[in-house]
Amino acid sequence: MRVGMYYNNNRIEVEEIPVPKINKRDILVKVMASGICGSDILEWYRIKRAPLVLGHELAGEIVEIGEEVTKFKKGDRVFTTHHVPCDECHSCLRGHHTACNIFQTKNNFDPGGFSEYLRVSGKSVDTGTFLLPDEMSYEEGSFIEPLGTVVRGLRAIDLKPGDTLLILGCGIAGLLMIKVARALGAGRIVATDIEDYRLATAKKFGAERAIHADENILDTIREINNSRLADKVIVCAGVLSAAQKALEAVERGGTILFFAVPNPGELLTIDLNPFWRNDVSFKTCYGAAPIDNLQAMELIRSHNIDVKDMITHRFSLKDIAKGFKTASEGKNCLKVIIKPHNE
Ligand SMILES: [Zn+2]
Ligand SMILES: [Zn+2]
Repeated sequence: MRVGMYYNNNRIEVEEIPVPKINKRDILVKVMASGICGSDILEWYRIKRAPLVLGHELAGEIVEIGEEVTKFKKGDRVFTTHHVPCDECHSCLRGHHTACNIFQTKNNFDPGGFSEYLRVSGKSVDTGTFLLPDEMSYEEGSFIEPLGTVVRGLRAIDLKPGDTLLILGCGIAGLLMIKVARALGAGRIVATDIEDYRLATAKKFGAERAIHADENILDTIREINNSRLADKVIVCAGVLSAAQKALEAVERGGTILFFAVPNPGELLTIDLNPFWRNDVSFKTCYGAAPIDNLQAMELIRSHNIDVKDMITHRFSLKDIAKGFKTASEGKNCLKVIIKPHNE
C-alpha cells in the first residue's frame, strides 16, 4: 500500500509499505479522508520522530476485523483516534483524561492516517472508535478530533451565554472556536490573525470584529463591549506575542485559555499582581478525550456546527507534498484533506 512518509515539511515522499497485519483485537481501516492538522506542520514537534507517517484526523471504512472484536463489523464506517486515555491512572480517575501519560505517549495507529490502510489497535478500538452516523460524510468525520479539542477547551473555561470572547489566531482551531462559541450562545467575539483570508472567514463564521494582530486589540474590544475587556480570551496561535496579548486583554473575573502555546524554551514573563487582585484564571487544554469526540460528532451530525465550509483543499495521496506545502504556507487555506483512495 502507499503511504505519505514525512521527513520534514518540505519533504513528504509517497512510499510503498506492506499493509499491516491485524491481530485478534485490531481493526484495519481503509482511510477515506484524513485532515492535515496544524500540529502536523509544527516541524519542531514532528521532526524528532521522522521519518514517519502522520495523520490523526480521519474517517474510513473497516475492511478487516480481529476475531475478538465484537463491537464492529466489516463495512462499518468509522471515526477513529490514535490516542485514548487509559481510564485507570491517577489523572484519568480524577477526570484529566488528556493529561494521562498513556494518552500522551501511546500511539495506537499503524502507520498513520496519510496511508491507504491503517491498523487501529488496543484501547483505540474500544474507546476511540465510533460508528459514523449514516448522514455524516467521511470528510465531516475527519473533523471530529479537531472539533473535539475545541469542545474540550470551551468546557475547560466554562463558556457562558453572553460571554465576550477574544480569539487570538484564526487557524482551524480559532475558527472552530468561533463556530462552537456561537452555537453555545457566546456574546461578542473579537478575532485576530495575520492573514486577511482567515480574518474574512472569522467574520463570516460569526466574529463581530476580525482585526489584524498588529491593530489595537484592546481598544477594539472596549469599543464594542461597554469599555470592558474580554471575559474569555482564547490563545490559538503558538507565538509569544499572542500569549502576551492575552494577559492584557482579559477582563476582571475573566479566564485565559492557552489552547496553543509558544515553542518550548520561549518564556512568558508575568507580574501576577493584577491577576491576583482581579480574580483572573489561567487554563490550558490539550487534545480530545472520547467524551469530547462524542460531543463533537453530535455537533456535526445535528448541523449545529457545519465543517464542510472549512475545507479549502483536497489532495490525493500522490500529491500529499503539495498538501503539506499548501497547509504550511497557509495562504487562502483553511483545512487540507488527503483522500488516499482518490487518484
Ligand atoms: Zn490534530
Ligand atoms: Zn490514564
